[in-house]
Amino acid sequence: MNARQDTQRPLPELDELQRLIARGGSQLDVSLLTEVTDGAGRYPLYALKLGNPDPQAPVLLLCGGIHGVERIGTQLLLTQLDALLSRLPWDQGLQQDLEHIRLVFCPLLNPAGMARGSRSNGKGVDLMRNAPHNAEEPGAWLLSGHRIGAWLPWYRGALNEPMQAESAALCALVNREIGGAPFCLSLDCHSGFGMRDRLWFPYAGSTRPLEQLGELQALMELYESANPHHRYLLEPQCHQYRTHGDLWDHLYYQHLLRHTDSTGQKPVFLPLTLELGSWLWVRKNLRQLSSFNGLFNPLVPHRQRRILRHHNSLFDFMIRAVRSWQQWLPEGHARDIQQQRALQRWYKDIERP
Ligand SMILES: [Zn+2]
Repeated sequence: MNARQDTQRPLPELDELQRLIARGGSQLDVSLLTEVTDGAGRYPLYALKLGNPDPQAPVLLLCGGIHGVERIGTQLLLTQLDALLSRLPWDQGLQQDLEHIRLVFCPLLNPAGMARGSRSNGKGVDLMRNAPHNAEEPGAWLLSGHRIGAWLPWYRGALNEPMQAESAALCALVNREIGGAPFCLSLDCHSGFGMRDRLWFPYAGSTRPLEQLGELQALMELYESANPHHRYLLEPQCHQYRTHGDLWDHLYYQHLLRHTDSTGQKPVFLPLTLELGSWLWVRKNLRQLSSFNGLFNPLVPHRQRRILRHHNSLFDFMIRAVRSWQQWLPEGHARDIQQQRALQRWYKDIERP
């Protein structure tokens, strides 16, 4: 693995990731997707795979740290990976799961931004506004993404410029890892919005229902019935705000475009975003307001530990849902019914232009 370079800023999450890579040994298939810079040091961007390497195996893709200041998302994934590596030698259930599915971790997507303590990457670009397409119905002016300059937050990058190295690396990874998979569930971990933890699904740039809404509704019902007292608010991202250049919107469009077969069959891809409700931590501890970091991450150790363990059942559920996707995924009429339920649940009050 790459040794730390002298000009790198301290980045404990990268140290922990490299420790886990060393610990995982031959169980982990590690790729260096690219290296990125913050102008001083260079930082590696890794993807780690566990489980069945068959391109046609179903995939659970777990991403974090795309906004550098939201460290808790990266920490959450590193904690999950650590726990999986601990269980693998003895847990036959997990071993069997991994014979059938592939886990792909990309826990530190914006290492240069995280090293700088900034939302954007080392070049000042917000990677979650960096995809090429514009929102069909943009929201608030700056927040929805702009091309004015990197000195303002939510900068998309210059028009007609290639995507940033981090965004391009994620797109290539998704295409490579889920291109042949009949089913993929992904979770991208963020923090910094609202009082509650949310599970968002596309679109971010449109109030239009996503194409595989029936499948998504079936997954949500499965989760809700298995976890009746769960903590998440489930909703399309457009319920809160709409943005240009959302990477998951882009990856979803690309996936459907590339992989729809001649009969119109599409492999199922359900991209979720976990948005941890950091305003609650701020309310409970106003000292969090005294630092930029405190707006996005828990500052008190007991709260950090609580957050890191709160989501265990979600990760456990996702592994089971991917392993058993053929048991619950609705088809034909059952799918249509789920689609109608989802339209009633989330879209009936949306006014579209
Ligand atoms: Zn974020």
